[in-house]
Amino acid sequence: MIRTILPYRSLLLTGLVLALSFFWDGCAVNPVSGKKQFMLMSESQELALGKQSDPSIVAQFGMYQDEELQAFLNTKGQEMAAISHRPDLPFEFKLLDSPVVNAFAVPGGYVYFTRGIMAHFNNEAQFAGVLGHEIGHVTARHSARQYSRTVLAQVGLIAGMIISPEFAQFGNEASQGMQLLLLKYGRDAESESDKLGVEYSSQVGYDAHEMAGFFATLDRLTGGPEGRLPTFMSTHPDPADRNQKVGQMAGQWQRRHQGQNYEVGRDSYLRMIDGLMYGEDPRQGFVENDNFYHPELKFQYPIPSGWRTANSPQQVQMAPEDGKAVVILQLGQGASLEAAAQAAGEKYSLRTTASQRRTVNGISALEVYADLVQEGQDANGQPAQQVLKTVSYYIQYGELIYHFIGVSSEQDFVSYRGRMLNIMTGFRSLSDPDKLNRQAERLKIQTLDREMTVREAFARYQQPSDRHEELAILNGMELTTRLPKGTLIKTVTRPNGQ
Ligand SMILES: [Zn+2]
Repeated sequence: MIRTILPYRSLLLTGLVLALSFFWDGCAVNPVSGKKQFMLMSESQELALGKQSDPSIVAQFGMYQDEELQAFLNTKGQEMAAISHRPDLPFEFKLLDSPVVNAFAVPGGYVYFTRGIMAHFNNEAQFAGVLGHEIGHVTARHSARQYSRTVLAQVGLIAGMIISPEFAQFGNEASQGMQLLLLKYGRDAESESDKLGVEYSSQVGYDAHEMAGFFATLDRLTGGPEGRLPTFMSTHPDPADRNQKVGQMAGQWQRRHQGQNYEVGRDSYLRMIDGLMYGEDPRQGFVENDNFYHPELKFQYPIPSGWRTANSPQQVQMAPEDGKAVVILQLGQGASLEAAAQAAGEKYSLRTTASQRRTVNGISALEVYADLVQEGQDANGQPAQQVLKTVSYYIQYGELIYHFIGVSSEQDFVSYRGRMLNIMTGFRSLSDPDKLNRQAERLKIQTLDREMTVREAFARYQQPSDRHEELAILNGMELTTRLPKGTLIKTVTRPNGQ
């Protein structure tokens, strides 16, 4: 959490542009189909939307610092944009610091790849296929066609937690920039983008059969340990027999354009991602044995057993399985604890019922109980008020003020208050060197020195046996496959022997 403070103003603008997009904008020629169609958004609105969403997307994830990989993404992206149906759009390609396996595009030509998806490609051609697919969403103006307010209703999904809609407003700020990512295109749009992915990646000289192979990797990945943020599979509804169709289209393209060379680029790609961060970055906070640790900001606090946690750069959310309560940790705004409490009170329209200075583990804090009155509708659709109960701890630690807020319905508050307070009053400084120095795992590319099976290779390079299946997926291979001497494979290591 907390790498960059979110530019709230740009989010408001995004909302405005979204609202604008609902107005009728007349008829435009679709760049891909060449047909006239009714568009909800003009090209200048698309460009404005992209420009305004980009800072919140970058703030949400952070950029992954890897010049070589970022340069590869730019070069291939610009090369493909130039042969696309909208070569004049000012495309931008960004590498995001997220372990989630996803790639997405927003209108106006902003295309994003996570380090998680880059770790899962096994050659340049797979990457190029997905790149073409995402550029295809932009050139075919899919998102411009698909905007809908219903996307806003999905903010709860952001954290992948079961939180009732009544708590949604607390997730809003972090999530509004994400609404674009949650945007689901229809199956027709996905099929069209798959077709464009084949076309564009073939045109720049890659073997589009590999794109079909990557969909198989995505299939094997579903149901991973924690689907905290939307993955490629959740933002891209899977058209039926997608693998097969993409494979057929790739074959057709290559038969129509014979004499051309179609590259795969396996070894060059794997050498390029050698050392890439893999999985969660513990430096930005991690959960272990029912505790949350933040090595960079040097604090820790307990999490009730059985609760789920979602960590993003803006906030950490914690909730029980039943979703009847939520505790959120974010940065407070203000020069003092009281000022931070006032700012949060205004932001969330809180009615304070009690407030008291406290000390938690030697650290100054302010405890505030407040009611939150929400206007809503009853079962018959009549206007009704609902009261939520909240308890907050504002904690002055280092240069920053941390704000925990626990929220529950009036009837559930009493039963959850104790667990909420345990989290907040358990906040303390972190000094355990094992936690402070915890490093992320990184990919290490190994070259096989003799013929062996994938399973034997993992054993040879000290990969724990309970992770062999995960690593087989990462390599796009089966454990029983025999590999010739000299084959490159991905393994994972954690620097500093952790
Ligand atoms: Zn798609």
